[in-house]
Amino acid sequence: MEFKNIETTAIRTQIERSQYLEHSAPLYLTSSYVFEDAEDMRASFSEEKERNIYSRFSNPNTSEFVDKIAAMEGAETGYAFATGMSAIFSTLAALLNSGDHVISGRSVFGSTHTLFTKYFPKWNISHSYFSVTEVDKIESLIKPETKILFAETPTNPGLDILDLEKLGVIAKKHNLILIIDNCFATPYLQNPIKFGADLVIHSATKLIDGQGRVLGGVTVGRANLIREIYLFSRNTGPALSPFNAWILSKSLETLAVRLDRHCENALKVAEFLEKEPRVERVKYPFLKSHPDYEIARKQMKQGGNVVSFIIKGGIEAGRSFIDAIKLCSLSANLGDTRSIVTHPASTTHSKLSEEERLETGIYPGLVRVSVGLEHVDDIIGDLKQALNS
Ligand SMILES: *Cc1c(COP(=O)(O)O)cnc(C)c1O
Repeated sequence: MEFKNIETTAIRTQIERSQYLEHSAPLYLTSSYVFEDAEDMRASFSEEKERNIYSRFSNPNTSEFVDKIAAMEGAETGYAFATGMSAIFSTLAALLNSGDHVISGRSVFGSTHTLFTKYFPKWNISHSYFSVTEVDKIESLIKPETKILFAETPTNPGLDILDLEKLGVIAKKHNLILIIDNCFATPYLQNPIKFGADLVIHSATKLIDGQGRVLGGVTVGRANLIREIYLFSRNTGPALSPFNAWILSKSLETLAVRLDRHCENALKVAEFLEKEPRVERVKYPFLKSHPDYEIARKQMKQGGNVVSFIIKGGIEAGRSFIDAIKLCSLSANLGDTRSIVTHPASTTHSKLSEEERLETGIYPGLVRVSVGLEHVDDIIGDLKQALNS
């Protein structure tokens, strides 16, 4: 059944009821499934029948989760993974051949950067990066062997916005597969397929779980591409566990209401920070001062839950701010009910050179706040006392 609104899709997309007529989907902890007879088994293995065979291939809970995300993103189908990184790796590895070339936004998740720079070269797969201000230069990077255009928007932790419509036009014109890591926006705030993306990837570990409990990932999009990704994955084994799929599917039921509050809190935090004298600059997609505010408004429903700002005084000021934080957590995760602050230059991005950091917008005093669901006055109060200490 198809639903008109994403909130209903997230709640009402459900696997078939069992004979017990349960209201909430049960948890199918089973590694394999039984067959009626030899003929059933033969037909199932030759894929004449669509059915569950083994949970590395499919499972009712993972199917429910995938079907939901696919419906929410306007995608044909998908496959779910144990983590966001296994989704990214398996998607790229399934589609790329030795000799192929990828063009990617420079600001990508750290481990995605490691795939491009350390692992894919082992298989003779090369890449070129473009920065947020160079979207118009992408065409000059295209080579005969370019196969994929990959990007994240909003970027982490710089919160830059890439114009999805422009990327869609370039990909289509040059016959490239456009893949968008939509983790920061979630399917509720942004649907890249509408702008021409062929595949959309999520780390479900973040806002989709939303409570910092389980890891997960998913790729949805065009059926012919998902078929390749499915075959690669069914053989290499990065499948999402049914337990995590069950948690994540339940979490999607509340995604819209959680995100509404996350975004409302984040905008208030951003507006507060803009007025603070110790803050040099604030970045939030839905602040009018954001350089790509108009693009963010065009492609996103709201600005997301992450705010970044530059504290005056560089690395040392960043570190002392973090040390003065009392309520918010110091943690590597984001998209949790609990607000989290991080100082990328001295932690997650400390292995990059100063130059590489600056290229991706990671200034020494940059602080990232993943705004949670505590009362916004308490979040702002904590940031305020830490700024003043
Ligand atoms: C966290 C994250 C990933 C990786 O997801 P895991 O579930 O941690 O493997 C990929 N992309 C982005 C943008 C992320 O924030």
